[in-house]
Amino acid sequence: MVDVLLTHSNHLYYDRKQVRKMQPYPPLQTLLAGACLRRAGYEVALFDPALAAPEEGFRQALACHRPRLVAVCEDNFNFLTKMCLMRNRDLAGWMARTARAAGVPAIVNGSDASDRAAEYLEAGFSYVLEGEVEDTIVEMTRLLLSGGTPSGPEPRGIAYLDIQSGALRKTPRRAPITDLDALPMPAWDLIDDAAYRRAWTSAHGCFSLNMVSSRGCPYRCNWCAKPIWGDSYHCRSARLVAEEMLEIKTRFQPGHLWFADDIFALSQQWTLQLADAVESLGAQIPFKMQSRCDLMTRPTVGALRRAGCAEVWMGVESGAQDILDAMDKGTRLWQVYEARDNLRRHGIRACFFLQFGYPGETWAEIEKTIALVRDTRPDDIGISVSYPLPGTPFHQMVSSQLGPKENWSDSDDMDMMFQGAFTTDFYRALADALHTELREGRAAAEDAWRNVEALKQTCARKLPTRLPVWTSC
Ligand code: SF4
Repeated sequence: MVDVLLTHSNHLYYDRKQVRKMQPYPPLQTLLAGACLRRAGYEVALFDPALAAPEEGFRQALACHRPRLVAVCEDNFNFLTKMCLMRNRDLAGWMARTARAAGVPAIVNGSDASDRAAEYLEAGFSYVLEGEVEDTIVEMTRLLLSGGTPSGPEPRGIAYLDIQSGALRKTPRRAPITDLDALPMPAWDLIDDAAYRRAWTSAHGCFSLNMVSSRGCPYRCNWCAKPIWGDSYHCRSARLVAEEMLEIKTRFQPGHLWFADDIFALSQQWTLQLADAVESLGAQIPFKMQSRCDLMTRPTVGALRRAGCAEVWMGVESGAQDILDAMDKGTRLWQVYEARDNLRRHGIRACFFLQFGYPGETWAEIEKTIALVRDTRPDDIGISVSYPLPGTPFHQMVSSQLGPKENWSDSDDMDMMFQGAFTTDFYRALADALHTELREGRAAAEDAWRNVEALKQTCARKLPTRLPVWTSC
């Protein structure tokens, strides 16, 4: 019998795109929550549905561990969690109902649960832990396992339904943890690392694991949802990050690492310190990371190379400056060229996230993005359409155009949820053509571009007026 059965809702085989990619990562946030619960004296177990049959596995875990509490704790560092996918929401709700049927209360934390607390509570959860999880999960576990219900000074950062009235109640959010060095290391022993290793090596011939060095992002791209950390940003000390790299290298011997930070290497000074610490410890593992093109300056990129960086994904978004300005992206197009050159000079792969369909974007702006890709030849691209998530200025801007479907079902969905200049089929064809051209050359993409040309006519929306370009106050 354990105190808490931890789990999450990210099942790889529910998501066509992730099955094609076959790059599963352990639920880092869930492992960190587990380490915090252990530090507070609780016995924990994990059911990890990423690679296992979710329903059958969860039922077996309930029967085997006989927990006193189930905590669906999403991996808030994983971009899939941030996408608030409907398949995951459905699985989380099913887990809550199944736990309740077995007489075990369930609590939940994650981006989608923080956005839609009422829906999760109605689905069967006793409490939603809003925002950052570590302190709240320990406090709520203490409360629930001692038989109490919130009364008097309630824990911060929770949502629940009032027993009498059924009304939604929320307590004030907890401030994000500032001293990240005080957190324990993730409870790596809870995962079946062999299952992840098998999935990776059979698809790619090498094994990759995940780490984080920071939480949050101080920039304000107006479509970017931040239900967990808001605009706050906190970073671990460079030395501690290098020490964790060494521990992972020694313990699991991965061939590759993914730093899942929203923004890695925000500070040039910190990056230089990391490079020095990694070199002195001999902790290098080739890694990929996300950042912004305006941060990929020569000194930072040089330090990243020394620390082992092999691949940088940047939110380039568009080749049209007016669209970047409308997004409040805060970057200039020349910085894309400069970042691309700096990374090439150090032998680091430069990869772009691109976004189509933002309000105000017409075929003319799309052509500029295509030209940017042809000019800079990134090593890879990831393409999406603008996706309005709750709590963002962009969501507010298009909220009157949203239909009944408010979230994507999986990461391959790419459905246009609002009135863009074109319909979904056009953007899917555009993504296909651009991917094909980059990977196989222009000649191989001719048919795909003909398809784009044809759909350009049939998929153009007759917008009543040209949508205004959004500018924040
Ligand atoms: S820089 Fe990236 S993480 Fe930060 S607000 Fe913009 S899109 Fe979001």
